[in-house]
Amino acid sequence: MTKITVLKGDGIGPEIMDAGLNILSVFKEKGLFDYEISEELVGGAAIDAVGKPLPEKTVESCQSSDAILLGAIGGPKWDDCKERPEAGLLALRKQLSLYANIRPIQVSEELVHLSPIKEDRIAGTDFVIVRELTGGIYFGEPRQLNDTEALDTCVYTKEEIERIMRAAFELAQTRRKKVTSVDKSNVLATSKLWRKVAEEVSQDYPDVTLEHQLVDSCAMVMITKPKEFDVIVTENMFGDILSDEASVLTGSLGVLASSSLSKTGIHLFEPIHGSAPDIAGQNVANPLSMIYSVTMMLRDSFKQYKLADMVDEAVKKVMQKGIMTKDLGGNYSTTDVTKYIREELIEII
Ligand code: ATP
Ligand code: MG
Repeated sequence: MTKITVLKGDGIGPEIMDAGLNILSVFKEKGLFDYEISEELVGGAAIDAVGKPLPEKTVESCQSSDAILLGAIGGPKWDDCKERPEAGLLALRKQLSLYANIRPIQVSEELVHLSPIKEDRIAGTDFVIVRELTGGIYFGEPRQLNDTEALDTCVYTKEEIERIMRAAFELAQTRRKKVTSVDKSNVLATSKLWRKVAEEVSQDYPDVTLEHQLVDSCAMVMITKPKEFDVIVTENMFGDILSDEASVLTGSLGVLASSSLSKTGIHLFEPIHGSAPDIAGQNVANPLSMIYSVTMMLRDSFKQYKLADMVDEAVKKVMQKGIMTKDLGGNYSTTDVTKYIREELIEII
């Protein structure tokens, strides 16, 4: 039996997770996709219950699962706590060897007017950022040398770069067959290696076009001509910054999902936003980020493309009727939006 570990986490995590699971359960009820759920603790919820952000039981459940769904982690409640909720996620990434973070950025017809950027520039934008998660300056050695000097080290190995490049090229093969590799090779040694490995790997994917772009230029083009991109692949820190920039294109954080791919084949799916403590418990959070996380799981982990397409269609229909949460300018609650999507999905099936 397919097993999914569910980590609701903190803040709006539980509310939106309930929405995602509600939609997924339609397929179980209709006999289209069977699975069992194991719900485990992580983050602040785990600190409250057992005193640490990543209990062993959670790791064990994840390791024996076919996929993992995560809500959100953290919040001001744990500000003064010795244990950090976020440490749970970092440790989980490490334990599960999650090496690539994939963020699709799509500006749909229903959302195009919400973006701060001019409509004609962004209508039809559809790209994916593939961010390397295990190397680079975030995993270097930060050192305060003395009161007036500090240093960080940035290390990348050929193996790490090759692995993320292959993930990007394989993804591009299922899309518009273009990879933009982003680096700072005019300055950084790690970026020179990055570019060289990108060229080497591209030889194995003759059907995919590879282009290189410097990160500063990429940051600009992302706003001025976002339609140019198909798959962007970049290192850890550049990916962190560019993916937050990209999220602005869609107008709300509440519609963006991500997957983190693992060497083990057990991938993790989560919204890109945080726990949104300012709106937690009010039944106003946008559930789409979690519902799209579920569709990413259906596609990436279970190859259930048709089921994922059905959910996308149901969401589109509901949005076209103006049924949206506050962040998208609507006045429907989390549970109402979810209920309408469920009804639409049942109709489509
Ligand atoms: P983190 O540090 O965990 O990334 P953050 O400080 O970036 O968190 P978020 O929790 O992502 O903050 O929230 C940023 C803003 O976006 C908040 O005002 C929050 O209410 C809003 N927001 C985030 N997710 C949603 C959602 N699903 N629906 C509606 N609004 C959301
Ligand atoms: Mg954030």
